[in-house]
Amino acid sequence: MTDYYDLVIIGAGIQGVGVAQAAAAAGYRVLVLERTAIAAATSSQSSKLIHGGLRYLETGQLRLVREALRERALLLRLAPDLVKLVPFHLPVYRASRRKSWQLRLGLNLYRTLGGGRFQSLRKSDWDQLDGLVTENLTSVFRYYDGQTDDALLAQAVMRSAESLGAELKLPTEFVAARLEADHCQVVYREGTGPEARQRNCRCAALVNCAGPWAARLLEKVEPKQAPFAVDLVQGSHLWLALEAPKGCYYVEAPSDGRGVFLLPWHGETLLGTTETLHQGPPEEARTLPAETSYLLETLAHYFPHLRDVSEQQIKQKYCGLRVLPKGDGRLFRRSRSVLLHGNRHQAPRLVSVMGGKLTTYRLTAQKVMKMLEPCLPAAQAKGDTARLTLS
Ligand SMILES: Cc1cc2nc3c(=O)[nH]c(=O)nc-3n(C[C@H](O)[C@H](O)[C@H](O)COP(=O)(O)OP(=O)(O)OC[C@H]3O[C@@H](n4cnc5c(N)ncnc54)[C@H](O)[C@@H]3O)c2cc1C
Repeated sequence: MTDYYDLVIIGAGIQGVGVAQAAAAAGYRVLVLERTAIAAATSSQSSKLIHGGLRYLETGQLRLVREALRERALLLRLAPDLVKLVPFHLPVYRASRRKSWQLRLGLNLYRTLGGGRFQSLRKSDWDQLDGLVTENLTSVFRYYDGQTDDALLAQAVMRSAESLGAELKLPTEFVAARLEADHCQVVYREGTGPEARQRNCRCAALVNCAGPWAARLLEKVEPKQAPFAVDLVQGSHLWLALEAPKGCYYVEAPSDGRGVFLLPWHGETLLGTTETLHQGPPEEARTLPAETSYLLETLAHYFPHLRDVSEQQIKQKYCGLRVLPKGDGRLFRRSRSVLLHGNRHQAPRLVSVMGGKLTTYRLTAQKVMKMLEPCLPAAQAKGDTARLTLS
């Protein structure tokens, strides 16, 4: 007899494991299919921040910021070993595009939306800022946000889901699905190489959490699904073998005014990120030489003593793909809210989850469960994700 699950989830990035945890906590039988490893793609290639996203205030994404700040507060409680509040510094120079009054306004709003605190540093403290250039510096704001290890967070969420009965098959590739009136038929390939075996299962609902592959994955579903128009926008980071800064810095790239982070990471330094439209298959995305130059130029501009970073000091270059709604406008201005796409308006049996934030994975999972509720059987809840600790 074919195996039956209430939910089959494709992809064990943060969104897939988040939905697995929410569904298992709600008492459902859950199977997660992951082709490579937990957090193998975008969910290990982020800036590793659990934050409201101060810069989203500029584009008026107040709801996203408020939700993310609430989730940040929750994760600081639920996962104290994995999510820590760290100090961020925002330097303002005479030539900065964002003026002191604008940042003060933004930080006040950030505080109103999610608590926390900020201050303007005394001039006498500026020499403690890791060698930040002080010429033409007019003010430095310090505020606090969360930092995590994105891959470890995803593994912890999956462990929590498994402790509630969810099953993970890995390496296992989703091959195809057929949506019937009252269930879905799913075909997947378990294992790799000559050992790989094709298998089938049935489920009440299917959740497509394949990250940058999610839009293409819809082509494997029968009946044919309307294509979902998205852009893949890559963001690169450089992990540098340089002594870790004492704090985090959020600076304006001199060439285009975008915000770039300099962060302590495993006793060294992480620098990111970029926004470059990616065309072609997701697996072909690579950090481009122009992105490396952009990041290193920004570093040298603010920290002149780090102007000569050698190739050997670049320990790792990695790039992740943001899934953003397709559009013509500036990439910076596109919404960063998660895209939830059901196979039909009423009672969807298939939901695709694209983009969104690592920070809001738990809330996204709740929204997915709400969408799928009409096609899921009754179940006895085993827990509440707002209370389940992660370690
Ligand atoms: C550069 C960058 C920086 C970011 N920084 C932050 C940040 O600091 N804070 C924050 O909150 N958010 C951040 N984000 C957003 C966040 O990282 C992503 O929204 C999130 O990681 C997306 O997770 P996902 O599960 O949707 O996708 P992914 O993590 O990409 O997971 C998709 C999974 O699906 C699997 N898969 C694909 N096809 C198949 C198949 N056929 N069968 C089986 N498995 C399959 C893949 O192997 C993969 O593991 C950032 C994003 C980017 C790109």
